[in-house]
Amino acid sequence: MPRNGEQGAFRKAGGADIPVALVYPNQYRVGMGNLGFQFAYQYLNQHPYFSAERFFYPDVSGQEKPTKKGPLSEESSRPLNSFPVIAFSVPFENDYPSVPRTLIAAGIPPLQKDRKTSDPLVIAGGVSVSMNPEPLAPFLDLACIGEISDTDETPGVFQALADELMEPARGLADRDGFLRSFREVEGVYVPSAYDFRFDEDGLIREIVPAPGFPGTVQALKRRSPDSRVPVSVLFSPDAEFGESLLVESNRGCGRGCRFCAAGWIHFPVRHRPFRMFQNEVDKAIDDGRTIGLIGSDLAGHPDLEDILTHIVDRGGRFSLSSIRPEGLTPTVIDLLARTGQKTATLAPEAASLRMKRVIGKEISSETFHDLVGNLVTAGIPNVRFYFMVGLPTETDEDVEAIVDFVLKSRKVFLEASRPLGRIGRIGVQLNPFVPKPWTPFQWAAMGTGSVLRRRLGIIRKGLKKEPNLVVRAESVRQALVQGLLSRGDRRISGALVSNAKGDGNWPESLRKEPIDPDFYLTRGRDYDELFPWDVTDHGVSKRALHKIYSKAVGDAPSPK
Ligand code: SF4
Repeated sequence: MPRNGEQGAFRKAGGADIPVALVYPNQYRVGMGNLGFQFAYQYLNQHPYFSAERFFYPDVSGQEKPTKKGPLSEESSRPLNSFPVIAFSVPFENDYPSVPRTLIAAGIPPLQKDRKTSDPLVIAGGVSVSMNPEPLAPFLDLACIGEISDTDETPGVFQALADELMEPARGLADRDGFLRSFREVEGVYVPSAYDFRFDEDGLIREIVPAPGFPGTVQALKRRSPDSRVPVSVLFSPDAEFGESLLVESNRGCGRGCRFCAAGWIHFPVRHRPFRMFQNEVDKAIDDGRTIGLIGSDLAGHPDLEDILTHIVDRGGRFSLSSIRPEGLTPTVIDLLARTGQKTATLAPEAASLRMKRVIGKEISSETFHDLVGNLVTAGIPNVRFYFMVGLPTETDEDVEAIVDFVLKSRKVFLEASRPLGRIGRIGVQLNPFVPKPWTPFQWAAMGTGSVLRRRLGIIRKGLKKEPNLVVRAESVRQALVQGLLSRGDRRISGALVSNAKGDGNWPESLRKEPIDPDFYLTRGRDYDELFPWDVTDHGVSKRALHKIYSKAVGDAPSPK
């Protein structure tokens, strides 16, 4: 049964032909705040042949039901293993162990090759799966590469699934034959149809598709003007942003920063005109909800000021995902302050001019300092900065520049705060750089644990004991695990199973498996190395990415 206070759950009258278990491999609180998960839920329940029930696993929010039947659905407490189709929505690599963990908890063999015809079909999608489906490949029958389509032009995985399952002569009895029918569906990867052959040194020698399957799987992109704008349909007081209407007002980013996948895999940039979601926004304001605008390029949205002005004039409130400085115009800052926004988030990512040029995000420090003053003066008391450490070619001097930048920002911050009679806080969030697939930095080595810790230590020491300043850093171990899961291939699936069966202790899981994390993480790559994710095609040429990478790093060595 839906949890207390939750609104928007679907229950299809009379059931549906194809029940789907839609699994978010993390807590209810987290999954409910994910718009991709919500969009899949809405799409499936509005489809004539599907119905979807939600699972969150493992859910440590106290609602997890450790029953003999395994995980049970939110909607009807139906056991996971009774659904013919299980679809995982996995936006973040760190949740990968929860895929085998959930299957094991339901009594389903985690490896695809061990499952019988009576076992459910297992699918996964989400941003991280799209970028590199290979770490999860051995668990999956199908992987969604790209986006869920909701128009007839590009049917995508679910429409193709409906076509197959509703065909009386088809069905899951002949699993291989069934999977073969997806060989030409845009955005669908059938991992068992691809043979990855490795050299003795561990590099991928070749990727051999089964007869009839394409060499690479093209990512599906929702480009039709008829595509729906993703908006949240489920609301809950127990979820992150659970009382807000989340709207994906834009997808992709035209800035093309060299470390950021959003600028490459979601190409081309798609801004949704306000008229496409104004009705939902107006209704949500009437219901007293905050409007959460989501998009990697909010600053570039041509209607941004109009949207925010409309919300405020109608008596509503809004929140913005991180936004580039040029989007923080005087009008936007004024609107943010008027709606009571307490914190503005800015992401310089690097501080020295050299490093900014390397990463392709060259926004001057003065621009940020001016913004800090303007934000505080307008009445927004707190500012949060995001930086990365361990970037390609980074030196200790580049990291020391972060300290100088933050201290200068603090000076401006205090000067602007004092006349107002209140002093807020500057937050500094530090994240180790992970070289992501499908970015120009995919050839770069990740910094070793000792380099990353030393660099984080330089910043912590430089900003120690500064009042009104809070420094937080992502755990280096966690970042290295993220790197492994992000860049790994199907050979790391054993470590995922071991981690799923154990208590989530990664050093222990890696000790048990014959894999060398440094092979995946701290090794620089040659131009022509085959990557696990080369089995997908996001419409960006490898040659073009490498040209940008070479230009970025020049002859400088990768971090040691
Ligand atoms: S870091 Fe920000 S500005 Fe740069 S490409 Fe990514 S989303 Fe765009």
